[in-house]
Amino acid sequence: MSIKANLEHIKSKLPKHVTLVAVSKTKPVSDLMEAYNAGQRIFGENKIQEMIDKHEEMPKDIEWHMIGHVQRNKVKYMAKFVSLIHGVDSFKLLKEINKQAKNHNRVIDCLLQIKIAEEDSKFGMSANDASTLLKSNEFSELKNIKIVGLMGMATFTDNSKQIENEFKFLNNTFSELKNTNAELKVKSMGMSGDYQLAIACGSTMIRVGSSIFGVRNYNN
Ligand SMILES: *Cc1c(COP(=O)(O)O)cnc(C)c1O
Repeated sequence: MSIKANLEHIKSKLPKHVTLVAVSKTKPVSDLMEAYNAGQRIFGENKIQEMIDKHEEMPKDIEWHMIGHVQRNKVKYMAKFVSLIHGVDSFKLLKEINKQAKNHNRVIDCLLQIKIAEEDSKFGMSANDASTLLKSNEFSELKNIKIVGLMGMATFTDNSKQIENEFKFLNNTFSELKNTNAELKVKSMGMSGDYQLAIACGSTMIRVGSSIFGVRNYNN
């Protein structure tokens, strides 16, 4: 199927409250333009340089989401235009985003990445650390960032019960934190293989790559 057909297929089944981030990492601008011409305006990338290059080449009414792990020393390169940073996993990183956002007179929306997977390889903070951060004075002093929700990545496994439990954990963590932080709105969870399950568990934002653009080839 074409990129346009894939997009239409996915969108036809999405509830209204769920936002689709088209994950375009490794894909050429021509593929992204196909999605753009089919109406897609939100793209997710996991490498800052690649996102910058695509941002420069493409129309300017696109929202660019950084969905990958962010190195602090690279925040300055995307601070001018990034719409949402999904993978914030430390106060230090948040402070740097705040500093760079301030340089550009912006407020940058961020999600706290919660570690929901058992695997050691997945980044993220504990629910407790997120709660502590959101209650801290240091956090309340950061005026150029806004935490608008949480992000999580489930374990890479065929065991859908486990994935479901991990999504539910993110959903519960969100509900608890929202009691003290009413501005939390976004639950970013679900990818090509598990987004339907994620939506059933409360996701409001799915990050879908291969089901739109086809399998990725990391060698070119
Ligand atoms: C690559 C990636 C996705 C998309 O994965 P697909 O399985 O291709 O849909 C989603 N989220 C993150 C953080 C990613 O790095």
